[in-house]
Amino acid sequence: MKNNQDNKLGLYIHIPFCREKCDYCSFYSVPLINYRSNYCNEIINDFIDILLIELEERSTGLSNYIADTVYFGGGTPSLLNPTQIGRILNTVNRFFKMDKMPEITVECNPGDFSIKKLKEYQELGVNRVVLGVQTMNAKLHSAIGRSADICTDRLLSDFAGFPDIVHCIDIIIGIPGQAGNDLLKELNEITCYGFEHISAYTLSIEQNTPLYKRYIPDRDFNDLQRELLETTIDYFINAGYIHYEVSNYALPLYESKHNLKYWMFIPYAGFGPGAHSFYNGERFYNPNSIEKYFKYKGRILQKDERTKNSEIVEYILSGLRLSYGISLTDFKNKLQIIVPDKLYEKFIELKARDFMNIEESNNDTIVRFTKSGFFQMDGLIYEMVEMFL
Ligand code: SF4
Repeated sequence: MKNNQDNKLGLYIHIPFCREKCDYCSFYSVPLINYRSNYCNEIINDFIDILLIELEERSTGLSNYIADTVYFGGGTPSLLNPTQIGRILNTVNRFFKMDKMPEITVECNPGDFSIKKLKEYQELGVNRVVLGVQTMNAKLHSAIGRSADICTDRLLSDFAGFPDIVHCIDIIIGIPGQAGNDLLKELNEITCYGFEHISAYTLSIEQNTPLYKRYIPDRDFNDLQRELLETTIDYFINAGYIHYEVSNYALPLYESKHNLKYWMFIPYAGFGPGAHSFYNGERFYNPNSIEKYFKYKGRILQKDERTKNSEIVEYILSGLRLSYGISLTDFKNKLQIIVPDKLYEKFIELKARDFMNIEESNNDTIVRFTKSGFFQMDGLIYEMVEMFL
């Protein structure tokens, strides 16, 4: 998974709207339920007007790159009708140098799904759709306070039968009340369709969410989540998927090119409130505020000042999520320093504890978690990076 993609760029378009807020969600999004219904489409159109300004203006500083991925994330991008997605893609195509066959992804909630809509997205160039299933178990769906509609078997089968796109599914595992059998039932339901890509995110219960008010995770819950993660990894590997990132599984050649950029320190530019960027060796972000975004006509980009230590932390945090692990040559090329001795000593210590593999290959050293290391990833990464905090 070495790359030579320094002149390639991922474009991330953040659509900050959702119908309602889910109880577990700590991402930035604007619930449209707070607006009068006849104003919702208007606010989305106003947002797109500004997004187009941001895309056009920032494209000049990115003219040395070729965009090979476009990712509509959120929020809920599928709230946008095909005309709205088309306006954005027209601007992207007009102002950015594009790869011949860019990967173009749209996240879609079950409530917005229709074959007609998907067909129209596809005609615009969308070639990857991520269906946010999360859970098909009604009890668990309500346990996490998911506002989007529950995904039905019929919908899943319609999605699976839609031709000539990469079918991606997002699910959540480790929900309070989820037993091993519940999980296996869902994994069976999903894998029988042969979807090319599956993301199975372990639920994170953040303090600033309504879910935390009714469920505070304890040690038992963390152990249960670890067991369910283990079940999930084994299940998908046995089903023929490549487990390429801690939460991501793909049939061969169907990994998300766009998301790999985040974990591999490959340049990407994010647009819309709350979006992050990394290019020309620097990091930037747009603050989480639709009000500021409107007020300053999309001109809210801030530079995220980094120290060398914070770059090391970030490299370790992202790179070790990949099953491939990190290449120490890549570390040196991207961060312009060799791996500090104290960090390398930590790798050796974790290898002795059977949590890491260190392999020499093609004049490079590859460091990656073992299976048992993966299950304790958060704690082990903390052990590695605390010396740089
Ligand atoms: S739909 Fe997604 S982004 Fe929106 S509130 Fe729910 S979890 Fe958050």
